[in-house]
Amino acid sequence: MEKENNPDLMMEELEIENKLKKFRNTIVVLSGKGGVGKSTVAANLAISLGLNGFKTGLLDIDFHGPSIPKLLGLEKNEIITDEKGIIPLSYGNNLKVMSLGMLLRGQDEAVIWRGPMKMGAIKQLIKDVNWGELDYFIIDSPPGTGDEPLSVVQIIKKPTGAIVVTTPQDIAVADVRRSINFCNKVNLPVLGVIENMSGFVCPHCQHKVDIFKSGGGKKMADEMGVTFLGQIPLEPDIVSASDDGRPYVYFYNKSDTAKKIENIINQLLKNIDNAAPNPKTQTDEHSKEKLPKNFKRYAIPVSEGKLCLHFGHSENFVFIDYDTDKNEIVKNITINPPPHEPGILPKWLHEQNVDIIIAGGMGERAQKLFSDGGIHVVSGANVEKPEKLVHDHVNGKLIVGDNICDH
Ligand code: ADP
Repeated sequence: MEKENNPDLMMEELEIENKLKKFRNTIVVLSGKGGVGKSTVAANLAISLGLNGFKTGLLDIDFHGPSIPKLLGLEKNEIITDEKGIIPLSYGNNLKVMSLGMLLRGQDEAVIWRGPMKMGAIKQLIKDVNWGELDYFIIDSPPGTGDEPLSVVQIIKKPTGAIVVTTPQDIAVADVRRSINFCNKVNLPVLGVIENMSGFVCPHCQHKVDIFKSGGGKKMADEMGVTFLGQIPLEPDIVSASDDGRPYVYFYNKSDTAKKIENIINQLLKNIDNAAPNPKTQTDEHSKEKLPKNFKRYAIPVSEGKLCLHFGHSENFVFIDYDTDKNEIVKNITINPPPHEPGILPKWLHEQNVDIIIAGGMGERAQKLFSDGGIHVVSGANVEKPEKLVHDHVNGKLIVGDNICDH
């Protein structure tokens, strides 16, 4: 039956669409074949994004062997549902995780999946899981260019793009060419190629040995005109960390290899910003404005017209542009913030070109997130009208007391 005539299908599509609207970026992690470290990359990418304050979702739909629960040490956790649907598992404050493996009862049970069942399972894992608002939704796709990655693209419709994971040797690289051709065919932007298991540095003599050769991924990426994101070496600690359910970038964050992974992720985020702008929000116009050098933009969380002491739960934000040459307020607008989710406000306020935040209370960690983004935070201000707070601040008269909020 055509979708137009089938209310159930139309309803399902609408439900999926509503879920996807809340994801700012969706990234599909692909590989030409199994065993190249695709799930390891997906898990460490998601963990790293979460640690950096981004709201992140990780969905494992590897029908041939869902391994994310094991990699994150979550395989014993039970699935719980409430009236809003399936509650995803949490890893730290910002990462939500769901896997086909969690829907299957026994890890060792072989499941025979037929095509439509696969499509149905993927849809269910998006629509019935309470993901909430996400900055990044990472999908660990099954390897190859078969039905499953195709289903993902059909369901998500417009993912931000794909990361292709490969190993350096020729065969794996030939497989990855097929993955890139697949992306081109289905209009899925390739955000970059990662060459995993690229060389091994002997822990005793520090000599580098290219066990699976090295550099193949880069050569192939150059030839195919896609971005090469970088190399991750063969790292014995990755194997033991994965086996023990202790994600590598979390437990070995000071290691050289973790730093390499971090660089790859930074490069990836740059590519996402350049290649695929986020969906427009009500504040796009405001954020696009170029402020003259003599203007300072203040952001103040308010409730009932006055400063709200609890930063993350304010009704609105008042943005005040102050002309430091003329010593006057030139613009004062009120905008609804995105829903309260840790990690979203720093990004959002940064996008609004804010220079200074005046807040009642704010935890140290949050203050650091803002200062890393170039925003100065003045905390401990009193419940006053935003205009008065700004005037007092520029005139050096702002009274700040104890920082009463510490989370
Ligand atoms: P895939 O998802 O492509 O099938 P996995 O992520 O499950 O691959 O990785 C396969 C195996 O290789 C796992 O045992 C994993 O710990 C290991 N592995 C992945 N990347 C590395 C690496 N850079 N160094 C050493 N072992 C790795």
